[in-house]
Amino acid sequence: MSFDTLGLRAELLRAVAEQGYDQPTPIQRQAIPTILAGQDVLAGAQTGTGKTAGFTLPLLQLLSAAAPRNPRKVRALILAPTRELAAQVGASVAGYGRHLPLRSTIVFGGVGINPQIAELKRGVDILIATPGRLLDHLSQRTVDLGSVEILVLDEADRMLDMGFIHDIRKVLAALPRQRQNLLFSATFSDDIRALADKLLNAPVPIEVARRNTPAEAVAQAVHPVDRARKRELLTRLFLTQQWRQALVFTRTKHGANRLAQQLDDDGISAAAIHGNKSQSARTKALADFKAGRIQALVATDIAARGLDIDQLPQVVNYELPNVPEDYVHRIGRTGRAGNAGSAVSLVCIDERKLLQDIERLLNRRLEQVVVPDFEPDPNIPAEPIPNGRGARPAPGRRNSANSGRDADRRRSGQRQRRQGAGRG
Ligand code: AMP
Repeated sequence: MSFDTLGLRAELLRAVAEQGYDQPTPIQRQAIPTILAGQDVLAGAQTGTGKTAGFTLPLLQLLSAAAPRNPRKVRALILAPTRELAAQVGASVAGYGRHLPLRSTIVFGGVGINPQIAELKRGVDILIATPGRLLDHLSQRTVDLGSVEILVLDEADRMLDMGFIHDIRKVLAALPRQRQNLLFSATFSDDIRALADKLLNAPVPIEVARRNTPAEAVAQAVHPVDRARKRELLTRLFLTQQWRQALVFTRTKHGANRLAQQLDDDGISAAAIHGNKSQSARTKALADFKAGRIQALVATDIAARGLDIDQLPQVVNYELPNVPEDYVHRIGRTGRAGNAGSAVSLVCIDERKLLQDIERLLNRRLEQVVVPDFEPDPNIPAEPIPNGRGARPAPGRRNSANSGRDADRRRSGQRQRRQGAGRG
């Protein structure tokens, strides 16, 4: 099946061809005609399925059916959980829309707000935003969402995990009631279903068989190891397996920094990427990693979310995530687009319960491979790690999952206080 049959206009087909895509992915096949028909969508799709083009192409087509208004008003709003994802979606909108007279801009926290205000003032048709910064713009009245026709929530599960539900509700209150709603989520918790029930009007459910379900494309293994010997084992694996590009996950920002430094000390070039790093440091680390200048990118879950790295061969869970769904997100970063990938987890006795929860979610046991010389010492007692969403610190306490966003809010709060315009 080719893209021509989906009902897209020539300008979009040209942009798609320029990207080098000749066939729509399963989610694109289903989503594009449905969205073009004006229907609400509830889509189950992970990064890597081609979901971004799945909503971006029909959205561009719908907006371009009418001539741009003067002045331009925001007619489509795309909400994304992280800066990286917002930036990637923004790049897709600009790329697929390059032959159309539509304007888009991206707003996220952690960077100056004034250039964003200037862009918004010039007028845009499509706004891609993270919820926190969008609320800042709303409260400063530097954006008007009263003309939004299409709302997209991308990676809605992650937005809820990050505690954005209140921000999302406030944004929804600023939108016209009559509009088309598209909700994309990799997982479907009760919270997501509740949000979908409120938000969507007779949605068409779209569920794609994942292009690379873990079982198919990603070889997974658990290496049991003592807590204190994980770093040594990781270095050993880098050397013996000759990993040239591995994405390594830690639970905390501090842990990411420390591990990157230690790997570097062991002669394995590494950089850390997490919410406390400046945008430019994150961009540089990602570029160095993609270009092969560093071997290990050490990331927290939030920072890694939405990173588009093609053909990533190796994912390492240096520490298991507290939330089992994060495991699926993590290993979804490898084995993409039909390439073989491998994910290994270094699991110490403290993480036994986390591993059980992951295996329950996957509905299968993961193969345990003890690396010679790294047999766990059975006499070491466990110091279990609290698991599940409830384990995340309450708002106001720092943890790796939400601190990037908190940092944004802190900065924006400081700025607002300086400007004498604190949020009420
Ligand atoms: P996404 O799921 O939107 O993050 O997309 C994952 C990757 O698939 C991105 O690198 C896209 O550029 C790529 N992609 C999207 N649509 C297609 C397609 N029809 N054919 C091949 N690759 C695609």
